[in-house]
Amino acid sequence: MKDYDCNVVVVGAGPAGMAAAISAKKNGAQRVIIVERENRTGGILKQCIHAGFGLQYFGEELTGPEYAERFSNLAKENEIEFLLDTTALEIKDKTLVCVNTRGIINIRFGTLVLAMGCRERTRANLTIPGSRPAGIYTAGTAQKLINVYGHKIGKEVVILGSGDIGMIMARRLSLQGVKVKAVIEIMPYLAGLERNKVQCLDDFNIPLMLSHTIVDITGIDRVEKVTVAPVDENRKPIMEKAETIDCDTLLLSVGLIPENELTRTADVALSGITKGATVNQYKQTDKPYIFACGNVLHVNDLVDHVSHESEDAGKFAALYAAGKLDKGAEIPVEAGEGVRYVCPQKMVCADGNVDLYFRTLVPGRNTTLTVSDDTGVLLSKKLIRTTPGTIEKLTLSGEKAKNASGRLVVSAEHKGA
Ligand SMILES: Cc1cc2nc3c(=O)[nH]c(=O)nc-3n(C[C@H](O)[C@H](O)[C@H](O)COP(=O)(O)OP(=O)(O)OC[C@H]3O[C@@H](n4cnc5c(N)ncnc54)[C@H](O)[C@@H]3O)c2cc1C
Repeated sequence: MKDYDCNVVVVGAGPAGMAAAISAKKNGAQRVIIVERENRTGGILKQCIHAGFGLQYFGEELTGPEYAERFSNLAKENEIEFLLDTTALEIKDKTLVCVNTRGIINIRFGTLVLAMGCRERTRANLTIPGSRPAGIYTAGTAQKLINVYGHKIGKEVVILGSGDIGMIMARRLSLQGVKVKAVIEIMPYLAGLERNKVQCLDDFNIPLMLSHTIVDITGIDRVEKVTVAPVDENRKPIMEKAETIDCDTLLLSVGLIPENELTRTADVALSGITKGATVNQYKQTDKPYIFACGNVLHVNDLVDHVSHESEDAGKFAALYAAGKLDKGAEIPVEAGEGVRYVCPQKMVCADGNVDLYFRTLVPGRNTTLTVSDDTGVLLSKKLIRTTPGTIEKLTLSGEKAKNASGRLVVSAEHKGA
């Protein structure tokens, strides 16, 4: 089997991998290879046929496949090499071991960019009691069955979880003539973007049941009904108030998990919160020749953020491969009060603006976001409203980043609920 040598190898031809590869090439990497296990580029965007992509990045509204197509074309123009139908199995020092139907391929690289995306949490992750009938799908699988293969998956559907995929599927199913009876959310607030609630639930009169969960699934061959109960402030179901909803299909939209099996083979340090690698602002992991971007790093709300972050990863991967990136001393970047996580988790105090991406812990109004170091507040921003479903971004100027000392802490304080 043929082996390869390259400056930068990227795993995953989704929007993250393609943006990173194009950027690596533009920043001087001579040979850039993308390894993709599917037979087409585009990643998850291939099945996202709704509009809503690219408003920030391209300043226009595109469908997922259109957004992906633009990057595929750019990748071809920039002479990126693709190894499709090829799965990356293991990272052994500076060799990526892959497999396809022709056998094992070893790719020796200068730097490697992880861009493998994420997978959905399943019923097994939730341990919902009840029988095991047909008719239970994760929302993304349902999306693929409907949008790619043209199937109809049921007639009456209940959706568990108010994440973006669940809400988008509520609208997709309604447009297909399917009755969506309710979207059930265990938290007292929405998991996804507010705009998706308006466009996908409110516009179709689909009830959203906050602070509720599914406590039982009934059915022999096929789902017949689900039992739904409100939850108390500790998310414990109040069984005496449980009710049943008749349905033949249950969709689970209960979160995504970064796909980091490959990352673990290189013993890269992972964050317990994001489940992705811990990186500095260059998207460089604790193994300096391995970078990470996109949903494998942290689950993003908008693909536009993915593209921007991944361009950074590709640029710095190219510089590292050329011996032009000094890692330098790093200080920790931490989530302070009101913040769930911050990416990056470390910062090299050097020239260049630093984008800090983070999610708040709970929704709130009149929110003040701050970035501080040991000397005091370096940056603050006021927002009318913040929600955990939306990724926030603060950019620290190069001047402040260079002189920061101790540790950086990002905090969010709400003046109203
Ligand atoms: C249902 C849904 C709706 C969305 N709606 C919107 C929206 O309206 N607007 C918006 O801006 N964003 C939206 N997003 C978010 C956006 O699509 C994602 O943030 C983005 O696609 C993530 O890109 P990625 O490249 O990190 O991951 P992916 O697109 O998942 O790509 C990862 C690629 O890596 C490949 N891969 C994984 N492991 C390996 C391996 N070991 N070897 C080789 N290849 C591998 C996979 O096959 C895949 O092609 C939506 C996402 C979903 C799921």
